[in-house]
Amino acid sequence: MTAQILDGKAAAQALCDQLQTRIAKLKENCRPRLAVVLVGDDEASHIYVRNKQKKAASVGIDCQVIELADGIGENALLSIIDELNRDSHTHGIIVQLPLPRHLDELKIISAISPDKDVDGFTPYNTGLMCCNHPQGFISATPLGVLKLLETTQVDLRGKHAVVIGRSNIVGKPMARLLLNRDCTVTITHSHSVNLPAITRQADILVSACGQPKMITSEWIKEGAIVLDVGITRFEGNICGDVDFDDVKNKASFITPVPGGVGPMTIACLLSNTLEAFLRAPECECSAHHLHHSHHCCRH
Ligand code: NDP
Repeated sequence: MTAQILDGKAAAQALCDQLQTRIAKLKENCRPRLAVVLVGDDEASHIYVRNKQKKAASVGIDCQVIELADGIGENALLSIIDELNRDSHTHGIIVQLPLPRHLDELKIISAISPDKDVDGFTPYNTGLMCCNHPQGFISATPLGVLKLLETTQVDLRGKHAVVIGRSNIVGKPMARLLLNRDCTVTITHSHSVNLPAITRQADILVSACGQPKMITSEWIKEGAIVLDVGITRFEGNICGDVDFDDVKNKASFITPVPGGVGPMTIACLLSNTLEAFLRAPECECSAHHLHHSHHCCRH
């Protein structure tokens, strides 16, 4: 079997085209604004933020990057977030992770207003997602994976989904979303014993552990759907968790790296930002357009 490639770049572009069309219909001077808080000089974070900014501009979302020195204190950072929470012109707020070690990530993230938490990382939005509540924001990476999965048109009910990784921003929400879609879900991590024996049971395998090319064809059930979230950088290239050339001969669908989950993450973040804008009480555009918003992945 040769797998069909799940083209995240094309799917993300299609989603961005829809966003652009919807934003172009808003009243003049009425634009969603995303604030990105970037602390320190982590090279990968700067690249991610630049990509988000470029893509935001292309769909008509204002993206304000607030660059802060590595040594910023917790209180100073919290007061910047507080200001953004109260600024009616800012509709979405994200804090680029990872933060420098002296900052408590959960405390900082929890300070973002749930209404502007377009990364869906606050405990409040995480809780809504866990309850399968339609109102919250779902974190962009798992949402992007789910959207790619939907393009296969495979019925997810009852499928055994194995997720590698249990971080709060990828693994756990991914597992929850799949559970919400009636999959039977197994979550694995660095202490899981005999991981290949577990992954071989997967109808759907989502890997988010950051171990380059760890997953080979021996880890895969014939015909499995394989979604690779992992990103490892080396010498200007990026590499996923899956040995793509090997696994593509055994999977039914597979995401490439780059060009798979990554672009979908950004597109879903921008989609959440438009949603936050449309829900904001201050904007006159909101009331009218709210009725046209879609929640296709929010069951
Ligand atoms: P974390 O480092 O927070 O979590 C990694 C998870 O993988 C942990 O749960 C860890 O287990 C588990 N893990 C590590 N090594 C192994 C192993 N050998 N076998 C099984 N499990 C293992 O990373 P993130 O969740 O933030 O990100 C995961 C990957 O996804 C990274 O490569 C990251 O760059 C990428 N990423 C990609 C995005 C995209 O848009 N494509 C967006 C966000 C992240 P334990 O908990 O026991 O330590």
